[in-house]
Amino acid sequence: MTAPPIVIVGGGLAGAKTAESLRGWGYDGQLLLVTEEPVRPYERPALSKSYLRGRSGFDDTAVHPEAWYAEHDVELALSTRAVALDPGARKIELEPGGTIAYERLLLATGSRPRRLTVPGADLAGVFCLRTVADADAISAAVTPGRRLVVVGAGWIGTEVAASLRRVGLEVSLVYRSGAPLTRSLGTEIGVVFADLHAEHGVALHPDVTVTAVRGRTAVESVELSDGTSIGADLVVVGLGAEPATELARTAGLAIADGVLTGPGLATSAPDVYAAGDVANVTHSLLSGRVRSEHWWSALTQPPVAAANMLGHPACYDWIPTFTSKQYDVMVEYTGHAPRWDRIVFRGAPASRHFTAFWITDGKVAAGMTVGIPGLERHIRALVAAGAGVSPAVLADPDSELAELAATATRQKKEQSMTHDHAQDRDHPEITEGLRQWYDACPCCMSQALPEVKQALDEERAAAGPV
Ligand SMILES: Cc1cc2nc3c(=O)[nH]c(=O)nc-3n(C[C@H](O)[C@H](O)[C@H](O)COP(=O)(O)OP(=O)(O)OC[C@H]3O[C@@H](n4cnc5c(N)ncnc54)[C@H](O)[C@@H]3O)c2cc1C
Repeated sequence: MTAPPIVIVGGGLAGAKTAESLRGWGYDGQLLLVTEEPVRPYERPALSKSYLRGRSGFDDTAVHPEAWYAEHDVELALSTRAVALDPGARKIELEPGGTIAYERLLLATGSRPRRLTVPGADLAGVFCLRTVADADAISAAVTPGRRLVVVGAGWIGTEVAASLRRVGLEVSLVYRSGAPLTRSLGTEIGVVFADLHAEHGVALHPDVTVTAVRGRTAVESVELSDGTSIGADLVVVGLGAEPATELARTAGLAIADGVLTGPGLATSAPDVYAAGDVANVTHSLLSGRVRSEHWWSALTQPPVAAANMLGHPACYDWIPTFTSKQYDVMVEYTGHAPRWDRIVFRGAPASRHFTAFWITDGKVAAGMTVGIPGLERHIRALVAAGAGVSPAVLADPDSELAELAATATRQKKEQSMTHDHAQDRDHPEITEGLRQWYDACPCCMSQALPEVKQALDEERAAAGPV
């Protein structure tokens, strides 16, 4: 009798990369990827950037070419939703499609956008942006000169404002805080983004909420809590997202802001794993749990989940990273700072050429560069080392970040009371699981994790022939 398949629920980056990693590890059993969307897995970042501006198409953002699935014997169940999970019986119910048994299961159900819940929010012309279908619908409504109201000034809201301003829409950005992006970056940096958008002709409406969307059959205006009414031909809602936990919750898995997993991405149910936006992971290097809604996490968790699914123990300890580009300003953020005590700046924020460090409990919890490429690796090392660098040194442009990172990494090793092999290496962020994956399938790793592959290439070269 053949064993039941490994089933992956969710056709985003995390789901597709887990399929790739399982095959990379040599798993040759039946592999089924179930996704409610009608298209093969794709990556979402372009949806608020080049795809929305018509500069890239679906094939550019698909995780794998169409033929890859047949070539790797990965069965795709498109337009299929997993509606119930029975971890005791190891079965999931699909809609449409009946019930199937699994040997191991990965939940990669991602996030769902928060909706606007005011009167008129269901009028034609009001959009969320999560899927390629959403992006297509928005694009179809875009004509230069039309009036767009973006509700919410987080990452997606600000990126949509920048992208559609660049294609000639009249854009208003409406948000509850005093400046864009303040929840994740703080007010001083938020002001930088407010100025950037204002310079490009975006009308800013801070400190307000939307009270109603008005229109007869389609949106005509948006009413704000300060009494303002803004004329609108389309509205894009960017109010953040919630982890898609419904399947896990009804099955009784442990949930709290996502599906709780251990460091190996195993959930509270036997042989059920989670990865990507939906996973709230016990992080091996950062204290506590991390749920990251970023592309890089959906890329780096799958090899670890796949390794553990196949019985090769591996811990997830990658430091979260994300990038954003708005107009010509490039942002690169590394670390995890849901709260912070202070932000230290190296360079003036107003110059749009600076580095910021978020300090939490005396340690560098995160760092971000604006307009300065190439520092991500050093910031990663500072965060991974839990470094307590003095604010004056962090702020000093003459103190080399590479040296600070090397010193912090060395000190962490010296202070370590227990012997931990991972800390003895030049790249503490590379886990044993990633090393094993490199040994099993360096080609597949070079596609998924080029930086890790390069670091391990260098490490193996330095070690010499075995
Ligand atoms: C517009 C946009 C722009 C972004 N830009 C950036 C960026 O610049 N940088 C960055 O780091 N991150 C960015 N992100 C975030 C990044 O895309 C996510 O972190 C990433 O998509 C998470 O991948 P995932 O596979 O975990 O989940 P998802 O990509 O959300 O995929 C989950 C899939 O599972 C499906 N699904 C859910 N439940 C079920 C079910 N019960 N049955 C079947 N299928 C199900 C969903 O429909 C979806 O197809 C952006 C996100 C969006 C929406």
